[in-house]
Amino acid sequence: MSNSDTSCQATWRPATRQLHAGLERTAYGETSEPVFLTSGFVYDNAEQAAKTFTGEITHYQYSRFGNPTVAALERRLADLEGAEACIATSTGMGAVSSALLSHVKAGDRVVASSALFGSCHWIVANLLPRYGVTTVFVDGTNMDEWAEALSEPTAAVLLESPSNPMLEILDIAAISALAHKAGAIVVVDNVFASPVYQKPLALGADVVVYSCTKHIDGQGRVLGGAVLGRAQWIAETLQPFTRNTGNALSPFNAWVMLKGLETLSLRVDAMARNAAQVADYLASAPGLLTVRYPGRADHPQYALAQRQMSGGGTLVAFEVAGGREGAFAFMNALKLIAISNNLGDSRSLVTHPATTTHSKIDPAARAALGINEGTIRFSVGLEDAQDLIDDLARGAAALAAL
Ligand SMILES: *Cc1c(COP(=O)(O)O)cnc(C)c1O
Repeated sequence: MSNSDTSCQATWRPATRQLHAGLERTAYGETSEPVFLTSGFVYDNAEQAAKTFTGEITHYQYSRFGNPTVAALERRLADLEGAEACIATSTGMGAVSSALLSHVKAGDRVVASSALFGSCHWIVANLLPRYGVTTVFVDGTNMDEWAEALSEPTAAVLLESPSNPMLEILDIAAISALAHKAGAIVVVDNVFASPVYQKPLALGADVVVYSCTKHIDGQGRVLGGAVLGRAQWIAETLQPFTRNTGNALSPFNAWVMLKGLETLSLRVDAMARNAAQVADYLASAPGLLTVRYPGRADHPQYALAQRQMSGGGTLVAFEVAGGREGAFAFMNALKLIAISNNLGDSRSLVTHPATTTHSKIDPAARAALGINEGTIRFSVGLEDAQDLIDDLARGAAALAAL
């Protein structure tokens, strides 16, 4: 087999595919993907330009429509997800908003789980109703609420599992079955599980959205997003919307993410091993009220997590005694783990959701989501687990000193 023969690709396993899938070398034979930082493209003659616009030939036109570096990322993400097609977007929110806005119209109905990333919640609660879309929120873990909400015709369902920040697990297969009976497409925000641990399309979902800013870059550098699904829906519904509204990913950011993908499973597996160790430490640490990690047997939906995820993930949620004062004392005592609202980074980060990411949600709704004043979200990084545990012990000591 020659080096350019791609016939063996079908048998490649995931670790190989995240390095090689979708790579199209140019005539220079470069090792690494080139970055095509160009806004436009030129044609050999006027006829070629005309044929490109009629669709008779395929030729890049303009980077808002498509770009070779962005296309390489889209091919590799689709391959990793097991999706027919992918469109990369400028941010994760660009992915979520395009997936929903391209699909719905005035008079439609959207059902969403209430435990959503803050901006996703805003789109469903505030933006869609302005355009005449009826939106309904349900407690995502309550199948009776889903059944009730999906007892009438619905255009789309949006959910996130594990959810931010309380790591609730939603039954993607069961919700998809109900949604399809109501005529809805199911859009899953798969950021927390990452493509390494959960494949929503295989569970029955129709569309998967990512903030590539999180584990896919995973090193805190660039913003980006992706929407994955069936080729026909991407081509006919999503693509006209993203092309004409301008939600394009920068080729440079696409290139950074291609580099991130090369080590995605290595990083996510190492982060998840750390998360499991840290969660075990936190479960026995003094001053801690609760610890939630989908890979621990005491997680309220452990059986479901085992069924639909192949790993526990890289996030841990825990609650300390002493409410906000306790949480702030704990976080301020940390010397290694940084305070940041980001997640999925190679560096460990803690967040106090009640005063940051979820501060705009009213206190009663926040309490209903299980987010208390003592709740801390921990995005576990690649540091040595013992160094993380030593740092968390500083937090526990500060709690004890209150
Ligand atoms: C970060 C995040 C988003 C938004 O992604 P951006 O890249 O910040 O726009 C959406 N959903 C979830 C679950 C996220 O964590």
